This record gives sequence, C-alpha cells and structure tokens, in this order.
Amino acid sequence: MTHLDGNALAGPLGELFAVDVTAATGRCASCGMTGPVASLKVYGPGPGLVARCPGCDEVMLRLVRGPGAAWLDLRGTVTLRIPVVD
Ligand SMILES: [Zn+2]
Repeated sequence: MTHLDGNALAGPLGELFAVDVTAATGRCASCGMTGPVASLKVYGPGPGLVARCPGCDEVMLRLVRGPGAAWLDLRGTVTLRIPVVD
C-alpha cells in the first residue's frame, strides 16, 4: 500500500490547530523513535488519515473528519514537541 509523507497532514491538521503541527516533533509510543511529524507515513484519505511511525510502522495518529466535527486519536504518540514563538 502506498503512502504519503506527514506533510499530507498539513491541511487537515491546519483546520484544527493554529500552529503547523507537521513542524512538530513526535515521539512514538511503541518504539520511542523521535522525529518530525512530516516524516510519518500517511495513509488515507478514506475513511480517515492514518499516520504510522517510519521506524516501527505502528499508528501514531488518526484523524477522521466528519460533518461538523473532527476526531483526532494520538494514543500512539507519547509527546508532541511543538515549536512556538516566544
Ligand atoms: Zn515507532
């Protein structure tokens, strides 16, 4: 199955967050690998976007957009380090 890189999340996550989450650094809950969200392996778009760790292939992020709401599942991500301007 082919996939896109994490930059494919920029639009869908941009609808939810004021910051560019693809520039954030995520830590995988399964293998502990740390890297940019933009490096995740993204599958989708239907029925939702699934982003997998490039190290162990476990799911780090799921995003489903329905009418009037979005569901974001980050249980596969321990931390998300998001750069902000001081
Ligand atoms: Zn991993």
